[in-house]
Amino acid sequence: MKDRGNITDLLNSKDSDELKALIDDTESIRRQKIGNKIYLRGLVEFSNYCDRDCLYCGVRNSNSRVVRYKMDQNEIIAIIKSAYQQGYRSVCLQSGETDSAAGVIWLTDIVKSIKDINSGTDEQGIGITLCVGELSYRQYLELWEAGAHRYLLRIESSDRVLFQKLHPPAQRYEKRVECLEALKDIGFQVGTGVMIGLPGQNAEHLVKDIEFFQALDVDMLGMGPYILHSDAPLSRTKARSILDPYTTTLKMIALARSLMPEINIVASTALQTINPEGLKMGIRAGANIVMPVLTPPRYRDQYLLYEDKKHTALQTIASELAEIEYQIETHKWGDPVHYFRRLGKEDPHC
Ligand code: SAH
Repeated sequence: MKDRGNITDLLNSKDSDELKALIDDTESIRRQKIGNKIYLRGLVEFSNYCDRDCLYCGVRNSNSRVVRYKMDQNEIIAIIKSAYQQGYRSVCLQSGETDSAAGVIWLTDIVKSIKDINSGTDEQGIGITLCVGELSYRQYLELWEAGAHRYLLRIESSDRVLFQKLHPPAQRYEKRVECLEALKDIGFQVGTGVMIGLPGQNAEHLVKDIEFFQALDVDMLGMGPYILHSDAPLSRTKARSILDPYTTTLKMIALARSLMPEINIVASTALQTINPEGLKMGIRAGANIVMPVLTPPRYRDQYLLYEDKKHTALQTIASELAEIEYQIETHKWGDPVHYFRRLGKEDPHC
């Protein structure tokens, strides 16, 4: 296993042969350990209302150019029923952040309605991932009891100083860590992650990120390149990263896969946006999850976290994956083996 110094050197390296060797090596280990199956999470970006002001994000509260929307319950359920017909067995509900009591009750009802889809047959129904930001322990518990079982909350950067440069003072690093711990305590499959190529970010930050993921013993990871949004203040900072966002994301995926072989790792939309080969290379580097966007086209221009966000149809994703001999596994939840291993349980849906 590589030590800290080797990992730092690898992340700093500009040598394309070294990158190729890393990906080839990781790919062969991965095929042995978790095979070539890719699982889907249909992404529904149900609301862009946001109380937060993350300095990198296009839907931040202060961006008055965004037209705010929130889908209604019927629309969300219709999208998910249609996804179910297409073979999706997991969805991810994502939105801007609001921790109002009414908002969480509304979401809890939606989670329950999704769980009802297909009730009455002996099939497992739909697995639900949430990505709706920082809430209280009690609110997370309500969502868990309603039937959500995975939660994504990226730490964005595990370095406290860098984190605070990316967020206004009211958004505290400690609070985000507390949320991750609460989610784990409740029993969620917990996913976190970081952006890569952030202004001021270097290889040492990323090494610390990997150590953070290991210490938290995460079940899922989502890492993607930082992409500018001209309405977000971070796009105007003079600081740059010395890291290339695309190749460094591939390296981070490969390192994460070799250090944490049984977790789920996503080939993020940002990775697919920044390079036409992003999907295939992200999968080859070690990702085993793809999140096709199910948000109806009329909302998509209002959910631009970063510019030129790419939307790829499921058929295109499937044929790109087939070219590199990976296969989409529909009709399965595709939970991470790691989760069951850490709880000492069997995966009931395997
Ligand atoms: N408010 C929710 C959802 C956030 S959007 C939450 O906090 O979990 C999901 C992810 O998009 C964020 O965690 C962030 O890592 C990523 N993102 C936001 N702006 C971005 C940008 N400019 N470039 C790349 N990724 C970005």
